[in-house]
Amino acid sequence: MGNKVKIAKSTYCGRFAPSPTGPLHFGSLVAAVGSYLDAKFNDGQWVVRIEDLDWQREIKGAASHILHILEALGMEWDGQIIYQSQRLAHYQAALDELNQRDLIYSCVCSRKEIADSSIVGINGSIYPGTCSRAPIFTKDVRALRVRTHHGPIVFEDFLRGLCTQNLKQEIGDFILRRADGIYAYQLAVVVDDAQQGITHVVRGADLLDSTPRQIFLQQLLGYDIPHYMHLPVVINAAGEKLSKQTRAPAIELSYALTYLVQAIRFLGQNPPVEIAQGDIASFWRWAKKNWRIQQIPRDPTQGINSCA
Ligand code: GLU
Repeated sequence: MGNKVKIAKSTYCGRFAPSPTGPLHFGSLVAAVGSYLDAKFNDGQWVVRIEDLDWQREIKGAASHILHILEALGMEWDGQIIYQSQRLAHYQAALDELNQRDLIYSCVCSRKEIADSSIVGINGSIYPGTCSRAPIFTKDVRALRVRTHHGPIVFEDFLRGLCTQNLKQEIGDFILRRADGIYAYQLAVVVDDAQQGITHVVRGADLLDSTPRQIFLQQLLGYDIPHYMHLPVVINAAGEKLSKQTRAPAIELSYALTYLVQAIRFLGQNPPVEIAQGDIASFWRWAKKNWRIQQIPRDPTQGINSCA
């Protein structure tokens, strides 16, 4: 990532993977800018993927709005945009492979049953494994869960250091395909990161908790494990993460440069006044050359607490 020693050309591929659940807001802009600058500083590729699997949460027009804003902000992606909704066969193939190796099982438990019989972890109820012990055969559509184990998942986050999680204990057997048939984010993101050749995942620290689940699936599926860097998360005055749910305002293109300058300042970068008051092209020229990950603030309040 953006250290003094640059990574050799062509070994770096980063990505921005928004869910089209609303317009692009400042919180997602920070993730987009951080992943873009880290890729460009390292002479890498940067791809954009629209994570539109959950049609119930999708807002019509949001994907094209996000792409339009990125383009207008001068953020150039490499290759074709991919849409997860068009890649279902790839997720099913990964599930089939796990199924052949008896690594997944179907689950008929309702939310209420799970809530009644489990303890609550960092990510909601920890599934007690009821259906893995006594398989129930029914024609109903069922959720599919992956069998986790007690071995710790350990990874190095570029900002947070060594992070550890025991999936069985802290998360439980997690869902790869929901009972409504929708493939889970954890599965789709792993398949896509591998198939797109992503080497560096730079995203918000709200996803730090998900990384051990993703590394676990990468291990099961024999994929390469990318490098990870989780950026500090933007919060509003009430201390909530900026998101559609917390009514984060959309980026307005009339203030494009101001937003970009605020985004890199949030990431600890210090553009000189003439850059902050100049134009978008000079902004990017400066930012791509002067990206310093050492200056990004580390926010230990976000994500799993077992990071060094
Ligand atoms: N689609 C996710 C989101 O918009 C991001 C996924 C990722 O970066 O891994 O929050």
